[in-house]
Amino acid sequence: MIRRVFCDLHIHSSASDGTDAPGALARLAAGAGLAAFALTDHDTTAGVPAAAEAAEAAGLPFVPGIELSANPDLHGRGDPVGTLHILGLFVRHDDDRLADIQQRLRTARDQRNPEMVDRLISLGVKITYDEVAAAADGEIVGRPHIAQVLVNKGYARSIHEAFTRYVGSGGAAYVRKDRLTAEQAIDAIHHAGGLAAMAHPIQFAGGDPEQVEHAVKRLAECGIDAIETHHSDHGPADVARYQALAERYGLLATGGSDYHGSRKSVALGAAGVPLELYHTLCDAAG
Ligand code: AMP
Ligand code: ZN
Ligand code: FE
Ligand code: FE
Repeated sequence: MIRRVFCDLHIHSSASDGTDAPGALARLAAGAGLAAFALTDHDTTAGVPAAAEAAEAAGLPFVPGIELSANPDLHGRGDPVGTLHILGLFVRHDDDRLADIQQRLRTARDQRNPEMVDRLISLGVKITYDEVAAAADGEIVGRPHIAQVLVNKGYARSIHEAFTRYVGSGGAAYVRKDRLTAEQAIDAIHHAGGLAAMAHPIQFAGGDPEQVEHAVKRLAECGIDAIETHHSDHGPADVARYQALAERYGLLATGGSDYHGSRKSVALGAAGVPLELYHTLCDAAG
C-alpha cells in the first residue's frame, strides 16, 4: 500500500491573527502527521525565526513565508468584490525590500484600525483601541482582533457575525485600508528570493471562474509563480479546476489549510496537500 504524505504551506501564528505562537507550530504540525509546513502570517515575517528554530529542533522541513494583501482591482476598472492575497514562500525573512513593504502595511493598519474603532463607538459600541491591541498581542492588529473583542463583549455571537454586521466589507464599521498592487507584492517576494503564489483563488470575485481566470492571466504577466490549488475553502472540483488553470498558464501549484488556531474552525493539514507539491516548489525556489 502507498502511504500518502502531506504538507501544509499556509499557516498563521499569533504574529498575525492566528492563536498559536510561531514556536509552537512545529510540534503541532508533527502531531498532525505533516512532513513539511510553512508559516505565512499576514503582512509580517516576525514569526519566522522562532518557527524555523522549532522546526529545526523537531527535524521538520520548514518554509519561511508571508501572505500579503493586495488590491484585487487588477484591471483598474473600479472595485471587484473579494480578496486578493499573494503568498510568498521561501522568502528571506529579513530582506530589506520586504521589510519596507511590511512597514508600509503596518502604517496602513495603524491608520485603518483606530478609524474602525471610532466608527464602532459612534454606533454605540463600547470598545477601546487598547482592548483591540490587547486581543492582538502581536505586531499585526487586524479585523479578526476587533471581531474578537466584539464577541467577548456580547456585540456579536460569533466572529463571523461580527464580520457580517460590523467589520467585513459592507459592515457598518468597515474602513478600507491602503493596499499594495499585485506587482508590488510579487516584486517584493521575488526580491526576497521567494516564490509568489495567488492564495485561495476561490475568494477572488466570489470565485467567479471567468474573473478568476482573468486574474490568473494578469498575475502571470506580473510574474506570479504559482496558484494555491489546494485550500480548506476548495472542494475537489475546485482543486481540479485550479490545477487546470495552473497548467494552462505554466504556473506551479501550492496548498495549505489557512490554519488560524482557535480563531477559525480549520485544522492543521485540513487541505490534504500532497508532499510532492512541496518538493516541486523547493526545486523551483532553488
Ligand atoms: P485584515 O487583514 O485586518 O483586513 O483582516 C483580514 C482577515 O480577517 C482575513 O485574512 C481573515 O483571516 C479574516 N476574515 C475576513 N473575512 C472574514 C469573515 N467573514 N469571517 C471571519 N474571518 C474573516
Ligand atoms: Zn487571517
Ligand atoms: Fe488569505
Ligand atoms: Fe491566510
